[in-house]
Amino acid sequence: MKKTLKKLIALCLCLAMIASVTLFNASATKKYTDCNGECEHYPAIIVPGLGQSNTWVVDDNGDYILDDEGNKMTSFPAYIQLDKVIGRILAPALLSLVTQKDIGLTEAAADAIRLCFGINTCDENAKTSPNVVTERYPYPASEYQDFEAEEVFGHVPFNLYETEQPFDHMYYFAYNSFGNHIDVVNELYDYIQMVKEQTGHDKVTLIPLSQGASVTSALLDYKPEVQDDIHKVIFVVPAIDGSTIIGDVFNGRISFLNKEYLYNGFLGELGLLDKGTAALIEMLLRILPDEIITSVLEAAVTALVEDVMVTSTGMWALCPSGDYPTAAEKHLSSPDKASIKAQTDKYYQAQLHAHDNIQNLVDNGVQVFCFVEYNIPMINVGETWNSQNADYIIQTDSTSMGAHFANVGETLPDDYVQQNTHCSDPTHNHISPDRVVDASAGLLPDTTFYFEGQRHDLTARNDVILKLALNLIECDDTKDVYSDPRFPQFNTARSSEKLVLLVKEAKTIDPSTLSPEDAAELAAAIAEAEKVIDNTIGIKGEVEASEARVTACLVKAGVMEAPEEGGVSLDIFTKISPWFYEKFGTDGYSELAVIYSMKALQTVVDLVLKLV
Ligand SMILES: [Zn+2]
Ligand SMILES: [Zn+2]
Repeated sequence: MKKTLKKLIALCLCLAMIASVTLFNASATKKYTDCNGECEHYPAIIVPGLGQSNTWVVDDNGDYILDDEGNKMTSFPAYIQLDKVIGRILAPALLSLVTQKDIGLTEAAADAIRLCFGINTCDENAKTSPNVVTERYPYPASEYQDFEAEEVFGHVPFNLYETEQPFDHMYYFAYNSFGNHIDVVNELYDYIQMVKEQTGHDKVTLIPLSQGASVTSALLDYKPEVQDDIHKVIFVVPAIDGSTIIGDVFNGRISFLNKEYLYNGFLGELGLLDKGTAALIEMLLRILPDEIITSVLEAAVTALVEDVMVTSTGMWALCPSGDYPTAAEKHLSSPDKASIKAQTDKYYQAQLHAHDNIQNLVDNGVQVFCFVEYNIPMINVGETWNSQNADYIIQTDSTSMGAHFANVGETLPDDYVQQNTHCSDPTHNHISPDRVVDASAGLLPDTTFYFEGQRHDLTARNDVILKLALNLIECDDTKDVYSDPRFPQFNTARSSEKLVLLVKEAKTIDPSTLSPEDAAELAAAIAEAEKVIDNTIGIKGEVEASEARVTACLVKAGVMEAPEEGGVSLDIFTKISPWFYEKFGTDGYSELAVIYSMKALQTVVDLVLKLV
């Protein structure tokens, strides 16, 4: 009997082993390329920036929530539920407007923020809501369906430019920007292993963009063994040491909560509105007393920061190390935040080690490149916005890993001497031609490229940045900033994506359908545009001029409508709003009316008293 049992057990074990081996083989990694890791192209993995991954809202059954047109609803940066927001805000807004008193408007504003952004609130362990799913791409770009190509290349348009890098060697690691940072780091580690298996290559190239650098920094610190998996790292405007926007917001230094700034300059300097519209909105703010406006804004900001942002370790990984200790003390001291704080403390250490970890990569033969943009003031949301050079979203100290900069609009002093903190070659000149940057003080002076006047959020429209990134991805010819005269250390901003698309469109026109003069002009305009696009050293204004010429041809050929001449000008408000501010401070119209009615009444009373 015992023997039979033993035999039975042995048989079961045997079957189990066969089953597991079979299952393992069945799930063995699918290969999408037949190079077997032998080709000269290392697989490239883009680690995108803030909001560059699609995250969708699902119901409790895991089904996508759709909008009226049947499109999936995004959770980034918020799940906008307009009907609910209007339902919550309309009555208090009308009541407050009529009575000029705060009839529940402040609470309603905070609720509206929670309604929309609350989807990104994480739990006490910093885990994201199960109602958010991230769209993932566990295969190379060659396998994308149309909608996936649209999503990925919509964020990073590598498809617009010629490259030798085969698309079966191009990957996009998607993650939730509000997600659990440690989970995201582990996912990136696993993704790298998956790419190695799928391609047969033993190393990959990482391209961390902006926030993606915080994930990469953590990866290097938490899993140092990963450096054996890395051939090259191409940091593009990386948040190596966070962004002062987050540092300011987490430390309660928010510029527009100061009403003197809110009513006089904030919106105009924001960089998102034209000056006329900004001034008009400033005037519209006066429809309510300033106390109500600031109370509403304060409640909205508090709800966003305290109920959403500080629960997200992904957001914490964007807090500069210099701002972290006070911000953590402020928001993460209570026992219910202990688990979140343990995770953010861990990242703080990674942040403090970031330069050492990157240097360690270099010392071990990994090529590390960096792209920095400068001379655009930081967005003016945090109070420290104008204290150092920036690219609108990240301060240059973070992106350049410590290079020395004059502030925006200034230059280094005449007697400034190159610091050579990290460059030991005395023949190198690392001072930018505009005398704003001393690249020698940055960690990687010989492999960091600088783009003057380039705005962070418009990086993907700069074809030179994309072409240089592709050049570094596809081969190892470019070793440093001196390798290729087409890509010097210091270059300028340009936004040429539109021109590239216009040329594509222009080439679809059949010249035989045009008059000989128009056909000649079309050919000349295309030739000029291609020359502009091919020239990787930007000249200010040339892209715009070429765009206008190609556009004129397209309009004449009837394939495009003439661009509309600017509509109604709101410029007049740029005069009226400051006048109001100077004359009446931040008072709302009703307060002004009361003041003037009181003054008038006083005059009448005085007059009557005198007469009596
Ligand atoms: Zn290969
Ligand atoms: Zn050097």
